[in-house]
Amino acid sequence: MTATVIDGAAIAEHIRGEVAAEVNERIQAGKPVPGLATVLVGENPASHVYVRSKHKACQEAGIVSFGHELPENAKLGEVVDLVKKLNDDPAVHGILVQLPLPSGLDEEKVLSTVRLEKDVDGFHPVNIGRLAQKGRDPLFVPATPSGVMYLLQKYVPNLGGMNAVVLGRSNIVGMPVALLLLRANATITLCHSKSKNLKEITRSADILVVAVGRTEIVRGDWVKPGAVVIDVGINRVEDATRPRGYRLVGDVAYDEVKEVASAITPVPGGVGPMTIAMLLRSTLKAAKLADK
Ligand code: NDP
Repeated sequence: MTATVIDGAAIAEHIRGEVAAEVNERIQAGKPVPGLATVLVGENPASHVYVRSKHKACQEAGIVSFGHELPENAKLGEVVDLVKKLNDDPAVHGILVQLPLPSGLDEEKVLSTVRLEKDVDGFHPVNIGRLAQKGRDPLFVPATPSGVMYLLQKYVPNLGGMNAVVLGRSNIVGMPVALLLLRANATITLCHSKSKNLKEITRSADILVVAVGRTEIVRGDWVKPGAVVIDVGINRVEDATRPRGYRLVGDVAYDEVKEVASAITPVPGGVGPMTIAMLLRSTLKAAKLADK
């Protein structure tokens, strides 16, 4: 079997087009332009790249974006005051605090300062708490997990009763993915660095989501024939033949697994582009909430 390749880049492009069209309709109707504020603390180069690409995507969708940067040694009070100011700014519908924050800053304190209605990244403890509770709905869901679910459900609309295995339990990816799968009525197994017999567990998965940040840890013989495999990992591997001296690979050994799975996301071009598309969607949703 050779797997269907789930083209996250094309799907994300489509979503971005839908968001842009709806933003345009809002503007024609005289409604406020959706606004996203980013808060970037410190010098983490990857964070700077991510934030730049979020601003560019906003611009392309007609969303106005406001970039705020604070130095590496910013005090908790400064970050909290900035978030409070953005909470009160009517032109800002969504606030995104780029993670990770420099060590020493209380991440939970900062995230819990974001107004629930502006928490487009879905990391406010109340939104995450609601995600974990039956019968409660978060206002926003974190972007990468929601991109994972969008791709999965495009391919498997009904996840009910399926065995879903998630590798990785981070607050940003693995845990919310597992909670979303549970809400979609899958039976979940959540694995992490202390889990034993990983290969045995992954081989039981109808749905396998991998977010560990370990180059090609999931091999062909870890996967049940016909499984759907979503690879969230982004790892740099040295490659002298590439202009930048490296290439990006996932947590899944793509060439091996694509011969076993029924569908698979590539890296790059799978989950990565979905993250920004889902953030734009959430920002539009936040603007609509503010209309009411
Ligand atoms: P973290 O480092 O925060 O979490 C990694 C998780 O994987 C942890 O739960 C850890 O377990 C677990 N883990 C580590 N090694 C192993 C192992 N050998 N076996 C089983 N589990 C293991 O990473 P993130 O969740 O932030 O990111 C994961 C990957 O996804 C990275 O490659 C990252 O670059 C990528 N990513 C991609 C995004 C996108 O837009 N496509 C967005 C965010 C991340 P434990 O909890 O026990 O330490």
